[in-house]
Amino acid sequence: MLNVVIFGAPGSGKGTQSKLIIKEFGLEHISTGDVLRTEMKNGTELGKIAKGYIEKGQLVPDELIIGMLAKVLDSIENKNGVIFDGFPRTIKQAEELKKMLNERKTDVKYAINLDVEEDELINRLLERGRLSGRSDDNLETIKNRLEVYHSQTAPVAGFYIKEGKHHTIKGVGTIEEIFERIKKKLCQTS
Ligand code: ADP
Repeated sequence: MLNVVIFGAPGSGKGTQSKLIIKEFGLEHISTGDVLRTEMKNGTELGKIAKGYIEKGQLVPDELIIGMLAKVLDSIENKNGVIFDGFPRTIKQAEELKKMLNERKTDVKYAINLDVEEDELINRLLERGRLSGRSDDNLETIKNRLEVYHSQTAPVAGFYIKEGKHHTIKGVGTIEEIFERIKKKLCQTS
C-alpha cells in the first residue's frame, strides 16, 4: 500500500497537491481539517468543540483527532493506499498513526514535506481567506497557526527522518511543477 503523509505549514499547498496525487496514484484522501470542517458544519458535538480551537489557530486535542481518525480509517476500503493531509500534526499523532497502521498490517511509506517560506504562506492564506471566507484564514489566526506549526508540527519531520521516510520538496512554483517534483519522488523509490 502506498500510504503518504503530506506535511507542511498552513498554506504550503497540501490540499492542492493531495488532489493531484490521489488522481495519479488512485489513493484515498484523509484531510483532518476537512473532516473537522464537516463536523462543524453539521453542528456535531465534536464540531462544536473543534470550532473553539480552530478559530483561535490552536490544534484540536490529540485524543479527539486520534479517535476521529481511527473511525475514518475503518471506513476506508481502498487498498491502493491513503494520503494523510494535515495529519499527523504532533509527535503523539505520528506515533499513534504508526500504531493504527501497523495494526492494519501497513505503514506510512513517504512523508512529503512541502517547503515554503513564511511571507509566501501568509500571502496565500490571506488570499484564500478572501476567496473562501474560511474563518481561520485571517491575519491574527494565521500568525497563531504558523507559531503552532513551528512549535508542535515541525518536530514531526524528525520522526520521519529517523524512519528514513522524510523528503523535502520545494513548494514554490506552479502547481504542476511542484506536483512533478512529488511524483518523481513517489515513483523513484516505490
Ligand atoms: P491548514 O493546513 O491550512 O492549517 P487544515 O485544514 O489542515 O488547514 O487545518 C485547519 C485547522 O484544523 C488547524 O489549524 C487545526 O486547528 C485543526 N486541525 C486539523 N488537523 C488537525 C490535527 N491533525 N490535529 C489537531 N488539529 C487539527
